[in-house]
Amino acid sequence: MELFDLKGKTAVVTGAARGIGKATADLFEKAGANVARIDIDAVPGMISADVADEAAMEKAFKKIGGVDILVNNAGIAVRKNSLDITLAEWQRVIGVNLTGLFLCSRVAARSMKQPGKDGLPRGGAIVNLASIMGFSGGIFPNPAYQASKGAVVNLTRALALEFAEFGIRVNAVAPTFVRTDLTAPIFTDAALLEKVMRHTPLGVLPEVDDIAAAILFLAGPAARCITGVTLPVDSGYLAR
Ligand code: NAD
Repeated sequence: MELFDLKGKTAVVTGAARGIGKATADLFEKAGANVARIDIDAVPGMISADVADEAAMEKAFKKIGGVDILVNNAGIAVRKNSLDITLAEWQRVIGVNLTGLFLCSRVAARSMKQPGKDGLPRGGAIVNLASIMGFSGGIFPNPAYQASKGAVVNLTRALALEFAEFGIRVNAVAPTFVRTDLTAPIFTDAALLEKVMRHTPLGVLPEVDDIAAAILFLAGPAARCITGVTLPVDSGYLAR
């Protein structure tokens, strides 16, 4: 079980007020980590801030101190087709899902590359939330979200290569549909849900804890030689 032990580690989870972020922060605490939770919503126990606001992120990370693990989980969707989505909506989705993830990653990496007791960079692990929508055109129009998540997959590779010399690993998970507030419109639409299940070979969709488990794996010692990958947690969706 040492492979999944985060004792003594400081982890930051963004978008931690609910859903996958909350499940991940809770699991990390069970694994022994000291967890700082960031969310745009002013919920007790959270640092309330917008991941797309660089100055706010710098302030938040300064307050937290040395960071060993970052989970870039905060994300939004505006499910409108290309002809209807406004420029402001498009920019906000890209701003949170891609630019916010980039900003948090570089603020965290500056902390992780600082020398530890042995004089070498202390290193760390970053885990990004991509999506099966980053690998496919999806099953309904969602262009801003799909563009943002496709970019997260490739930014994960780029940052993995750039940060490797500091001992920082960068990976991502790509969930299929998971029941959260974000996906309530899908889970309450019987016809759409039926379509989702037709694309789900295992016949069962993951819960938030299944995604948190994959994030824990990538964040901890079990994945010490894994970097630059995006791990689908998709019940076989992408295998087609
Ligand atoms: P959710 O809506 O339940 O939770 C997202 C959290 O992020 C919320 O607490 C929200 O307040 C916070 N947040 C949103 N914008 C923020 C910002 N600018 N700054 C700080 N916090 C912000 O969503 P979820 O389903 O738990 O999704 C979490 C992540 O997983 C997202 O990146 C999402 O794209 C990804 N994902 C979810 C699914 C799914 O089916 N639920 C599938 C694939 C990927």
